[in-house]
Amino acid sequence: MKLGIIRCMQTEDFCPGTGCFRAIRNKKGAFAEINEDIEIVGFCNCGGCPAKKSVLRARKLVERGAEAIAFASCIQKGTPIGYPCPFAKRMKELIAKDLGEDIKLLDYSHD
Ligand code: SF4
Repeated sequence: MKLGIIRCMQTEDFCPGTGCFRAIRNKKGAFAEINEDIEIVGFCNCGGCPAKKSVLRARKLVERGAEAIAFASCIQKGTPIGYPCPFAKRMKELIAKDLGEDIKLLDYSHD
């Protein structure tokens, strides 16, 4: 599976994405049920609050081959500081509408 990841821009100062890459490598968290190799085609942030740019960034990931897009756990779970994104629901809605049903969206990356 070719995967793109979108993360919280605000969280970049706290986290370089280690937990996301570990979960993918070890097939844990949101990737536990994926029984094929995972190729990361891109890892980008949402573009900053209120995440309007995330739509364009998701498009770019798909243009580069992503079949699925994972929202990193910093977005909906608020890891590592316990501060979920207040725009997460709308961000997902906009991206889902823009990309259509063929692109799988994962609500988190790791536990
Ligand atoms: S819109 Fe959400 S995910 Fe993006 S920087 Fe702001 S809080 Fe983080």
